[in-house]
Amino acid sequence: MIKVLAVASEVFPLVKTGGLADVVGALPKALLPHGVETRVLVPAYPPILAALGPAEPIYRYNDVFGGPAALIAGKVGDLDLIALDAPHLFNRNGNPYLAPGGADWPDNWQRFAALSYVAGEFGSGLIGEFVPDIVHAHDWQSALVAAYLHVAPEPKAKTVLTIHNLAFQGVFPTPVFAELRLPPSLCALDGVEYYGAVGYLKAGLQFADAITTVSPSYAEEICTPAGGMGLDGLLRSRRAVLSGIVNGIDTDVWDPAVDKDLAAPFTAAKLARRADNKRAIEKRFGLETGDGILFSVISRLTWQKGMDLLADAIDALVASGARLAVLGSGDAVLEGALSAAALRHPGRVGFVAGYDEKLAHLLQGGADAILIPSRFEPCGLTQFHGLHYGCVPVVSRVGGLADTIIDANDAALAAGVATGLQFSLADAGGFAHAVTRAQHLFADPKAWSAMQKSGMKSDVSWSRSAARYADIYRRLLARI
Ligand code: ADP
Repeated sequence: MIKVLAVASEVFPLVKTGGLADVVGALPKALLPHGVETRVLVPAYPPILAALGPAEPIYRYNDVFGGPAALIAGKVGDLDLIALDAPHLFNRNGNPYLAPGGADWPDNWQRFAALSYVAGEFGSGLIGEFVPDIVHAHDWQSALVAAYLHVAPEPKAKTVLTIHNLAFQGVFPTPVFAELRLPPSLCALDGVEYYGAVGYLKAGLQFADAITTVSPSYAEEICTPAGGMGLDGLLRSRRAVLSGIVNGIDTDVWDPAVDKDLAAPFTAAKLARRADNKRAIEKRFGLETGDGILFSVISRLTWQKGMDLLADAIDALVASGARLAVLGSGDAVLEGALSAAALRHPGRVGFVAGYDEKLAHLLQGGADAILIPSRFEPCGLTQFHGLHYGCVPVVSRVGGLADTIIDANDAALAAGVATGLQFSLADAGGFAHAVTRAQHLFADPKAWSAMQKSGMKSDVSWSRSAARYADIYRRLLARI
């Protein structure tokens, strides 16, 4: 067995702000058949402590970045968790990164340095309870572990860093460096220094033994000035150890045949049952009843996700006869624009502001298509849910969306392999065109259900991708 310590700032189903949590929560189970045993190190936010229940710490610290801390281990469902219980850093409710007013917690630099530091101690074999062969860090919040392990003496674990979104880099003012417990030599261009500041993700990219990101196209995009967000030079220099592996979904959590959040569970052979789910969506979103095309959106409301393009496209979409149900939370301006659109188009556009996992399932199980007009998308998960639930993805041709959806062009339709629609974005015109194409295809029920069925047949599970991660671990340990 290969022993892996996964380190992340969120994990489904306990703490989730996005796809990162889904991945961290699902990968351990998928890796097990490949000879990989994973423990997941996460901050002990209140919901994590509550799920673990009372337990004797496996380790205690007198001082971790400003206060005492303990490590609490336990199982939650299939997950083997280790929680870093540092109340001064993590005993806070709500969003893991943001204070109630919406600004970053001012001590985020400390909180996630602490998480990475402790991960480094595991990787150095200092915590006898679990000595990993690999420390697998996810995103900037745990990326600094690669720096801690870089300066640690042998024997030590190898490090893998997965980039889920290069837009979040963990950049802090230079004085922070003095508190990180790293040797001064690392405060340099080939260390953690980043454009006159300290960059946690940058440090991870500099020192990790292997770097992955969540789709092959995104791996290419981040090596270009247009997609590299300031890190493309470093990423190009590390191209030899960079790979793109698409995410999967947990098909136990997402299974339309037994999904309790659906009004009517269904299979590819019983697609007509989706109509009951459509009725339930209409009711919940205050929409008119009808058999015409119903588009859905399930998204963080941000510029990245192209939600401004969506808001701009709504009037035309309604004018063409379509209906739209949007579930999302995020940017207040976008929330306002979507609420206004729903008011302008009663019965045609419904908007539920907020985060609602159950409603996300219902939308996938009853809407005809899901719109994903992202400007960039490292992998994306909602298109997988859509594929698996017969909710045809209409996506911009970027990152993981480009890699996982087969556009319904003439060749793909003739070969019967189309699973969705793609459009090259950057302008609203492309989006509008794709919506029109979707409506034309929907008007041909045979073509539409063929596309739904192709989508439902595609392998969206973790099995292939888990094998690739296991391969990377084996290579690093030279156990191939
Ligand atoms: P990102 O991580 O960039 O937000 P992904 O598509 O990778 O985007 O993952 C988003 C995850 O969060 C999916 O599981 C999706 O269903 C879920 N999600 C996003 N917004 C909402 C919402 N408002 N309510 C419920 N689930 C949501």
